[in-house]
Amino acid sequence: MKIGVLGSGTVGRTLAGKLSSLGHDVTIGTRDVDSLMARTDPDQMGNPPFAEWKESFPDIAVDTFEVAAQGELLVNATSGGATLEALKLAGAANLSGKVLIDVANPLDFSRGFPPSLSVCNTDSLAEQIQREFPEAKVVKSLNTMTAAMVDPGAVAGGDHDVFVSGNDQSAKDQVRALLESFGWINVLHLGGLETARGVEMWLPLWLSLMGPMGGAMFNLKLVKA
Ligand code: NAP
Repeated sequence: MKIGVLGSGTVGRTLAGKLSSLGHDVTIGTRDVDSLMARTDPDQMGNPPFAEWKESFPDIAVDTFEVAAQGELLVNATSGGATLEALKLAGAANLSGKVLIDVANPLDFSRGFPPSLSVCNTDSLAEQIQREFPEAKVVKSLNTMTAAMVDPGAVAGGDHDVFVSGNDQSAKDQVRALLESFGWINVLHLGGLETARGVEMWLPLWLSLMGPMGGAMFNLKLVKA
């Protein structure tokens, strides 16, 4: 399948790499290809510059948000505060009728660390996207964890949970199938897109857990009586 991954950061790269390894035709979207390829500094987490990363993934194309958004299925892996701007560059017509997997978190770093949420409680980034692009089929997923998103077996042998929120059942079913192709077993459908509020509000706790958990490779495992 032709997939547009909108976002050139760690998450965009991680998802693009996995999707490409599964045989999908992947294009990463960015604001300006030349400027992205010209960057030479590692990011804040010490990840290599994009061009260096790209050398290991010759099959992945890199283009503008607008061109990447011409894929059949789209992933939003842009900075939460810039998501609406990035998706406007992608173009509403390109999003129309398509599944848009939203993995972004509305983190606001303007007052330093830890970040606050720029939207919460009665609204979510996913709902903001859906309102701005009513013809897109927005499905929130994978925002609650880090690299385990494409390698669930790396945490507890894969026995942990990933959530799916959205208003369109067939879109959610398509996302479930994609997650299963990543190796996910426990895929929990939470309900309509308003359930994205809860998974986005998990982020402050997730950030606090990185210290006690000794890193970012952990996730939620739900149990019941
Ligand atoms: P990021 O640094 O949060 O976002 C990078 C992307 O945002 C780039 O493609 C960048 O465009 C775009 N962007 C930034 N400012 C922009 C602007 N003003 N207008 C348009 N686009 C803009 O990258 P990330 O760490 O990979 O995270 C991506 C998303 O996934 C975030 O929302 C994050 O909260 C969420 N998330 C992160 C993790 C994690 O472990 N890091 C896990 C789950 C979810 P250019 O390509 O042009 O630079």
